[in-house]
Amino acid sequence: MWKELLDRLDDYYDEMVEIRRHLHQNPELSFQEHKTAAFIADTYEKLGIPYQTGVGGNGVVATLKGGKPGKTVGLRADFDALPIQDEKDVPYKSKVDGVMHACGHDGHTATLLTLAKAMNEFQEELPGTVVFIHQHAEELAPGGAKPMVDSGILENVDAVFGTHLWSNTPLGVVETSLQEFMAGADRFEILIKGKGGHGAQPHQTKDAIVIGSQLVTNLQQIVSRRIDPLGTAVLTIGSFQSGSTFNIIADTAKITGTVRTFDESVQDLVIEEMEKVIKGTCIGADASYEFQYDKGYPPVVNHPEEARLVLEAAKQVPGVESAREVEPGMVGEDFSYYILEKPGAFFFTGAKKEDHYYPHHHPMFDIDERALPIAAKTLAQTYKSYQEK
Ligand code: MN
Repeated sequence: MWKELLDRLDDYYDEMVEIRRHLHQNPELSFQEHKTAAFIADTYEKLGIPYQTGVGGNGVVATLKGGKPGKTVGLRADFDALPIQDEKDVPYKSKVDGVMHACGHDGHTATLLTLAKAMNEFQEELPGTVVFIHQHAEELAPGGAKPMVDSGILENVDAVFGTHLWSNTPLGVVETSLQEFMAGADRFEILIKGKGGHGAQPHQTKDAIVIGSQLVTNLQQIVSRRIDPLGTAVLTIGSFQSGSTFNIIADTAKITGTVRTFDESVQDLVIEEMEKVIKGTCIGADASYEFQYDKGYPPVVNHPEEARLVLEAAKQVPGVESAREVEPGMVGEDFSYYILEKPGAFFFTGAKKEDHYYPHHHPMFDIDERALPIAAKTLAQTYKSYQEK
């Protein structure tokens, strides 16, 4: 049955691509994915697989109970898009101005829907139960994963797996890490309140640009001088806005940025040190400030046994040339919430388009669609291995 199942996924290649392209042309922003959720629900309706809509927001969860006893496994795919203008010149380009599937979540959805269709055809012989988790709002904190998990979808689930089509990884390569895989991603905003004035009379002002510039430099010392070299952190200033014209001293400066960590104690230390540095810099300049720090998704930390199982399973999938362990990356993902609750692992399915490579979240982003059946087969094979373990 398993070989037939994998073959079936290849047979459905055109259909998978069609679903992906339909979603690609009709992207919806996080928390607004009503049509996408309806499309997913409609697919399960037609397949006759029981499903639930409105799970933790726009989430859709379908449950396929196999004819043979076994464990219950959750497979997750997210389905939201990004506020980016699609600049590709392809027939399946986004039809929605300023909204684009620039992270591949359209492909995740096509993969999981097609896998559900194929597994449903082998329902009688299928051991265990598959919970197909279609998650809304991955791209925008607080995200869809947490409310979906909080609504109890994992209660009877033994393990959860998920994949991300990855444009940085070549086709035919599957990657994961046995532990830390993706970082926790936080956001901060600092408002420096100085005192404006005439460009010729600096002594009567508290120059927000000078104070802000010092602060940007001082913040660089947190990761380099305060964090244990064996602990990992990134602190990036992404924007600095201040001033209006050449001869006026600015009264405020707004600085925003992101912090990425893998460990809560490192994260706490970064926040604590940031507070000290901001306070110290501003006090020294007699300025006041506001500091807002928003914790984002926790890091994706795989369960070693389940991650190893993914790698072993992937090696048996036709089309997978290499299944390898990789160093963790600094990108964030709310898949973390599933594996904080239950054992499981997240992995990358290589989807690099060799003649058209752009990183995720780029206006020219695209995937090699041949990665879709590879992703579906790897999930299927992982399901099999988990049932047999
Ligand atoms: Mn993504």
